[in-house]
Amino acid sequence: MSQKPVRVRIAPSPTGEPHVGTAYIALFNRAFARSHGGKFVLRIEDTDQARSTRESELSIYASLRWLGLTWDEGPDVGGPFGPYRQSERTATYQEYGKKLLESGRAYRCFCTAERLAELRKKQMAEKSSRLGYDGFCRGVAAAESKKRAEAGEVHVVRLLVPDPGETSFRDAIRQDVVTTKNGEIDDQILLKSDGFPTYHLANVVDDHLMEITHVIRAEEWIPSTPKHVLLYQAFGWEPPVFAHMPLLRNADKSKISKRKNPVSLRWYRAAGYLPPALLNFLALMGGGPKEGDVEIFGVDALETGFEIEKIKTTQPVFDLAKLEWMNGQYVQHLSPEAFADALADRARAAAEYLRPLLVHLGQRVKRTSEFDRWTETFFLTSLDYDAALLVPKKGPDKARTLDLLNKVKKLLKDLEGPTAASMEAAAREVAEKDGQPPEVLFMTLRVAVTGQTTSMPLFESMEMMGRDVAVA
Ligand code: GLU
Repeated sequence: MSQKPVRVRIAPSPTGEPHVGTAYIALFNRAFARSHGGKFVLRIEDTDQARSTRESELSIYASLRWLGLTWDEGPDVGGPFGPYRQSERTATYQEYGKKLLESGRAYRCFCTAERLAELRKKQMAEKSSRLGYDGFCRGVAAAESKKRAEAGEVHVVRLLVPDPGETSFRDAIRQDVVTTKNGEIDDQILLKSDGFPTYHLANVVDDHLMEITHVIRAEEWIPSTPKHVLLYQAFGWEPPVFAHMPLLRNADKSKISKRKNPVSLRWYRAAGYLPPALLNFLALMGGGPKEGDVEIFGVDALETGFEIEKIKTTQPVFDLAKLEWMNGQYVQHLSPEAFADALADRARAAAEYLRPLLVHLGQRVKRTSEFDRWTETFFLTSLDYDAALLVPKKGPDKARTLDLLNKVKKLLKDLEGPTAASMEAAAREVAEKDGQPPEVLFMTLRVAVTGQTTSMPLFESMEMMGRDVAVA
């Protein structure tokens, strides 16, 4: 193990809802830092300017704090290695990009979008084993490349992957060496044409400058790691220890997704889960303090003597029924005072989570306590209703109803950035094409997505739960 003081980080991208996977990774990073007297850093990776929002960033802070997964350094608390928000570090990435250009480990690529699209088409047509950039601009001489850039020609900066050769790293969880042939590694874009870095460059530069000793992250990043290793080599830096945690899985073993499991931490808070229960559950997913040991334990048990090698390599299934049971264990032991606090927190979180619907709720209730009756459906993870309710009394029969529902489903799946209005238009289109009054189909749809015949406004509800959940 590295002799330097332990420094670990989570590096979430603030795009959308704070993800339960972020808490899972944070929990283990933090436990590792605590066990080794190290530091736990929160870095905001907002290089995707189009998708990153401040709201999402604040939501990440709030959700992690709710769980007690606090950090020692980060954009909001500061620290000696700041700034901790990548959008404030652009000049640094450009400087390091320039270094790689100068040392010949990266090159400018002037290929147009059209050429790249052509290339891709050709590779697809030839069923090429490797899809990716063909290195065309590697051949541009350094002096010419500089001249063209200075003349303002649009370009990106790509990593020059040495070929032949292979790139290896050791994974501390699998305790195995992962080797990739360099021929299979794309000449990754490091700096985009607008001068902003890609994830790969920013991530490596920051992990190095922030003196991160162990990169403990989700397994989905394994394919990126060889590129990162090549970057460390290109800079002449020592890479950190890499540890890739097994992904949380749905019951069918697919990567956890909101179609099959709630993934938003805001949802868990609003649905009445307790932080120690959720943490206990997540800890167990990674193996817990000692494998096969007790199932109920405080998270502090994880924070002493925790070693990366203790993380299980088997695919953890995110079993909501188990979490439900575990939460019950914790609820049972709440004192009346703590219960009252939990209730108050849940009420606030639920109102916050369902904020877009409150204006509609206000129009139909006389007392705020009616909130639960109208919004319960948003906190259920499976609907239990009489399927006969789907078929209208006067209208299409069972087979046609099913056909109509499938048609709506297909249209919904194809919508770009679905909103209440576009989802309504899709359903209306299906009804009208079939010569049905839309209201009849809307009732079927209401039952299908809320399990009830009366609900909050249907399409606003669908927007609230999200298209994927509505479709599921
Ligand atoms: N920004 C990446 C994410 O969204 C970070 C991955 C990493 O930890 O390197 O998860």
